Parts: sequence; structure tokens; C-alpha cells
Amino acid sequence: MSTDSLLYEGKAKQLFPTDDLQVLRVVYKDSATAFNGEKKAELEGKGVLNNQISKLFFDYLTKHGVEHHFIEMISDYEQLVKRVSIIPLEVVVRNIAAGSLVKRVGLAEGTQLSRPIVEFYYKNDGLGDPLMNQDHIAMLELATSDQVGHMRQIALQVNDILQLYLEQKGLVLVDFKLEFGVDPSGTLLLADEISPDTCRFWDNVTGKKLDKDRFRQDLGNVLEAYQEIYQRLGGASHA
Ligand code: UDP
Repeated sequence: MSTDSLLYEGKAKQLFPTDDLQVLRVVYKDSATAFNGEKKAELEGKGVLNNQISKLFFDYLTKHGVEHHFIEMISDYEQLVKRVSIIPLEVVVRNIAAGSLVKRVGLAEGTQLSRPIVEFYYKNDGLGDPLMNQDHIAMLELATSDQVGHMRQIALQVNDILQLYLEQKGLVLVDFKLEFGVDPSGTLLLADEISPDTCRFWDNVTGKKLDKDRFRQDLGNVLEAYQEIYQRLGGASHA
């Protein structure tokens, strides 16, 4: 297969094969989408920032012993990743009430949770990515109970690591979404991206939202917020 033939296109990324069967090339797009694709925009440069920010987070997780699919960034918009078969679940960890949790359980936005909670959502656009419990996951055979337990454990470990790291950068990790895949040897690996598209970050002094909520809620300065995250994580500033 030609290495230019698109394998998969999602809302924010494209996947291409490489000469190595075990390696894929990811291209981050500038498209921003929210509300299951109902709200859309092109934000020039968003793809570069998410590519860079994801790289920084994955490299940081490597140092802390978390295995993942990221290999290396090869250009502003591109990175190489290990080929995995994605488990069709979004694994969300929450420290503070925001977004869909506020709507579902009625807590006020900003309420500190007494301990982190983990939720699983079925990756299915047609159904609007519904919340799943372990029985639903088993019923639909989306993952084994071992995998569910393992994903929960890794998600909480990532939360511990990133919460501390971000605190040092003056940021509160409100919540985030992870995805996992299985490599050809059957090993569960953290996959997808970790960026302001998939996490909520608040400034820990002002409470300013520095993530995709700026786009979802029409707060303006979306790219500036992503840039701010990149710089706080030690990324170089852009002209
Ligand atoms: N999230 C994501 N992709 C999704 C849904 C959620 O990356 O398809 C992230 C979102 O950015 C937030 C966390 O998961 O950091 C929890 O999202 P929530 O369930 O509150 O849903 P939303 O507010 O996106 O409707």
C-alpha cells in the first residue's frame, strides 16, 4: 500500500501507513469540532500546537514509566506512532466537576471532587458517545474486564502524574479523556492524543479556561490559550 493512502480520518487527525507495518503516521488537522461535530471551524495552527503539546505530555509520561503509542514528532503537523487496534472507549478522568458531569449529576461547575472518578464512554458518533458501565462494556464485548481494570488503573496513574506536573506550571487539571489500543503482542497501550482538545486546563489563580471550552463556549482566543499551554509546558514561543 502506498504510504500516501489515507487509512483513517477522524475529526482532528488523519492516519497514514508507513514503510514499517508496525508504525503509522499521524497528521494533526487544524479543524476544531464540538458537540459531536455540530460545531466546526478551522483554526490555523491548532494542529501544530496539539502535535507539540501531545509530544511533550507523552515524553513526560515515558519518564514516569507509562507505556504509550507515541514514537516521535517528524514535522510541525506530523508524528509517528505504534500501530495499535483502538479499543472503542473514551476513558475520562475527572478531578473537578465540568462539562457533561455538571449536566448529568447537577454539581456546580468547579466543584472539587473528593477523589478522582473514571468514566467510560462508547466511541460511537451515531449514538452520541454514550456513558457505559462495566456491564454494558462486557455486553457489547468492547473490552475484557482485565482491560477495563487496566485502563482504569493507567488512567488514574496518568492523572496523578499530570496533575502534579501541571500544578508546577500553574495549571489545574480539571478532567481529560484517554484512549487505549492493543498492540500485536496483546499489550494495552495508551494511544490517541493528550492536548487542550482532550483535557480541561484552568489557570490556578484566575480560573481562566485554557482548553477547548474556549471554542465550545465561544469564549474567544482559542489558539492563544493553546499557545499558552504549550509555553507553560516549556515549548518555544511562536512569532
Ligand atoms: N472529551 C474528549 N472527546 C470527547 C468527549 C470528551 O476529548 O469526545 C474530553 C473533554 O475535552 C473533557 C473530558 O473529556 O476534557 C470530559 O468531557 P465531558 O464528558 O465533560 O464532555 P463535553 O464537555 O466534551 O461534552
